Amino acid sequence: MRRLVVDRSGTSAPATSSTVYELRSVAVPYGNCIEPANVKAGGHACPIRFQCAGCGFYRPDPSYLPAIDQHIISLKATREKARALDTDEFVVRNLTDQIDAFDRVRAKMREQLENLSSEQRLEIEHASAVLRKSRASRSPAVTPLSITAIGAHDRD
Ligand code: SF4
Repeated sequence: MRRLVVDRSGTSAPATSSTVYELRSVAVPYGNCIEPANVKAGGHACPIRFQCAGCGFYRPDPSYLPAIDQHIISLKATREKARALDTDEFVVRNLTDQIDAFDRVRAKMREQLENLSSEQRLEIEHASAVLRKSRASRSPAVTPLSITAIGAHDRD
């Protein structure tokens, strides 16, 4: 899986070894993160509210494709709400830029998968399912939504 890691532009960014991949990155909602302070904090200290597709420390692999699919759907729904609320154009623009960036990353990873043999693709699908199961059993990283929820709770 480490060989199929890409960066935010979709450029191949394989980890040099499995150990490096595991020790220097942390799972966040839409991919792995290599930002040192966030890695140290177990993925709970993103300084820019998980806008990963615009971040130089973003390193997703194909096991995150379903999460990215879901996130793109969610960003599009939020953009529609923003338009309905007549928000300033910068709010809509930010959401559109994130959608486009995640879409680029997703397209590149799918392209990589298409270039594999069917046997290799099956192996990656199996490994992806195992990784997702393992991540789901750990405590989830804080996301922008949970930050909002914490903020609302603190005000009560
Ligand atoms: S935006 Fe994503 S990749 Fe960047 S520091 Fe935050 S969690 Fe890590």
